[in-house]
Amino acid sequence: MSPRAGGKRAPGHAFHPTVLREYDIRGIIGQTLSAADAHALGRAYATLLRGAGGRRVCLGFDGRLSSPELAEALGEGLRTGGSDVLWIGRGPTPMLYFAVHHLNADGGIQVTGSHNPPDHNGFKMMLGKTSLYGARIQELGRIAASGEFATGAGRIIDSPVFDAYVERLLSDFRGGRELRVVWDAGNGATGEVLAALAARLPGRHVLLYAEIDGRFPNHHPDPTVPENLVDLIRTVQAEGAEVGIAFDGDGDRIGVVDGQGRIMFGDQLMQILAADVLARHPGAPILADVKASQALFDEIGRLGGKPVMYKTGHSLMKAAMAEMGAPLAGEMSGHIFYSDGFYGHDDALYVAVRLLTILARGERTLAGWRDRMAPMVNTPELRFDCPDETKFGVIERVKARLEAEGAEVNAIDGVRVMTADGWWLLRASNTQAVLVARAEATDDAALARLKQQIAANLAAAGVTPPAF
Ligand SMILES: [Zn+2]
Repeated sequence: MSPRAGGKRAPGHAFHPTVLREYDIRGIIGQTLSAADAHALGRAYATLLRGAGGRRVCLGFDGRLSSPELAEALGEGLRTGGSDVLWIGRGPTPMLYFAVHHLNADGGIQVTGSHNPPDHNGFKMMLGKTSLYGARIQELGRIAASGEFATGAGRIIDSPVFDAYVERLLSDFRGGRELRVVWDAGNGATGEVLAALAARLPGRHVLLYAEIDGRFPNHHPDPTVPENLVDLIRTVQAEGAEVGIAFDGDGDRIGVVDGQGRIMFGDQLMQILAADVLARHPGAPILADVKASQALFDEIGRLGGKPVMYKTGHSLMKAAMAEMGAPLAGEMSGHIFYSDGFYGHDDALYVAVRLLTILARGERTLAGWRDRMAPMVNTPELRFDCPDETKFGVIERVKARLEAEGAEVNAIDGVRVMTADGWWLLRASNTQAVLVARAEATDDAALARLKQQIAANLAAAGVTPPAF
């Protein structure tokens, strides 16, 4: 049977050209994204799902002000397309991912703007138990444009998984010494789950901004930006806590600070998590993205693991780790994925439970782990504006120039250039109209030379280099 058998031809729906991205759908409410888009997405997704032989879809949403309206419209579109909607309700994105496994659903959609400004929103999707991304997202756009939607009469079924999810998170905590922990939900979608989790973990737990509020009145829920960690650091120090943990707006990215208030980025945290996983999976591949420190790749090798450098992007990373059978993968941005003991997706609350277990069962404090790491001089992730329409072209021009020069380039995602001084990276973000740069060296003078190289290559590609 053709997936669209019985389908009526409806007027096609055109999404704004900027919203169908590499691994999710994102837009600005009232400008590029509306409830009508959510409804059309529901109908297109239901059509795709029927073609894949599925019917039951989990639907969740984050705490943004526009999320309930988008979720309603999406659910209605799915239902009209013949899908049964398992209504998960409000919560973090990884609770939706969990629901798809727990309820053995055929797919799932989370309405979320992740860490983006309050007036942004979007959709992260699964088909079966894996991410729906890339060509499949474009296919949804084509189905919507054609108007050839499947039709049917699906149902909306209340399917809360909150309690089961909290139990699942707690089931992998192994106690030891009691810890003092400060948590910062940034008024994002993790707040309620976090409160339930912290109430049942041993030790002392201080919660910041655990009330879900889509206006993000205290600070923006993006823990990769140091200014968003100011309150967390201050509270960790005031409480004499050993660790501070923050989440992005939808709970798929983690940010961590140690007891001295030092920020630990995803690629530093991964050094600790990899040591634990490799003790049980000797020789296993561990994936990290092109932005990650050389120190992480070196440490994975030193621990007897197989370091694999891969593309930035949560959907891409999840697919690659499944293909390679990797127990752990992570990005500098704080997306960290466990297959060891878990489902292979990025759940920052689960990562927090695993980190606390490592600390509670060992003698070493988080600051002690940090002190042992190889001293590297590096920039943070440097992000600067570049229009969506031109950002990939800039990278292509830089790559062509480097190849002509005979530079040592890893081009798996943008350009990561190895030099005698260290490495530098330039890539286009898949989620925002920005270019991303990073450099790492063993001393300040070498780092300054790498930054000059980035600036020179940008200038040669017709982009005014930012001051860094
Ligand atoms: Zn997120």
